[in-house]
Amino acid sequence: MQVAAPVAINPSQSRKVVVVNHPLVATKLSVLRAKTTAPEEFRRNLNEISLLLAVEAAQSWQTERIEVETPLTSCAGARLAQSVALVPILRAGLGMSEAIFQLMPQASVGHIGLYREKKTLRPVNYYTRLPAHIDRDHVLLLDPMLATGFSACEAVNVLKQHGVTRIQFLCIIGCDAGVEQLHRDHPEVEIITAAIDPILNDHGYIVPGLGDAGDRYFGTE
Ligand code: URA
Repeated sequence: MQVAAPVAINPSQSRKVVVVNHPLVATKLSVLRAKTTAPEEFRRNLNEISLLLAVEAAQSWQTERIEVETPLTSCAGARLAQSVALVPILRAGLGMSEAIFQLMPQASVGHIGLYREKKTLRPVNYYTRLPAHIDRDHVLLLDPMLATGFSACEAVNVLKQHGVTRIQFLCIIGCDAGVEQLHRDHPEVEIITAAIDPILNDHGYIVPGLGDAGDRYFGTE
């Protein structure tokens, strides 16, 4: 059995990988990692940590100035300068999109279905349904685990085929291999994550990780 401590890295010299270093993220991540955490608690913490990652992602977004009438006077306000689309990679990404949709109810939502072929760990695309004008949107691509990076790369390929040019990838846990793969294929895609773990095992699982995110979220273990 391989036992490894999570690596506490914060490569803030590059905005291309942002490891969100926040006490609430750290505590919620520990709940997600614990094997004793029940699906209900797992869901709640995955939802909440997704919100915190989305807030970090939005840090770099542009706003437009608007005038707002308060009950007392008018003042300067702001609105997002660009439309946003959330694209979860099925199935585990759904847990992230459900939460972030509460924060950005004006966003449109698309879905990309991928499964990993067992031997090669290569992604197979079985479903794509995206908003009609997604090429105009800023896309948050969502998958809790950035493991081999193959699924993330394939999902970015699908988005690019639909004309998308602005993509941020949000995950709960990444690993070095996945980050490198995604950066190699799509260097412009920013990764926002709660942690980067050191090991990818022979079955494509991140170690220490949190297990199978989809199974734990949906209680299908
Ligand atoms: N997908 C998961 O759900 N967990 C991993 O560790 C890797 C891929």
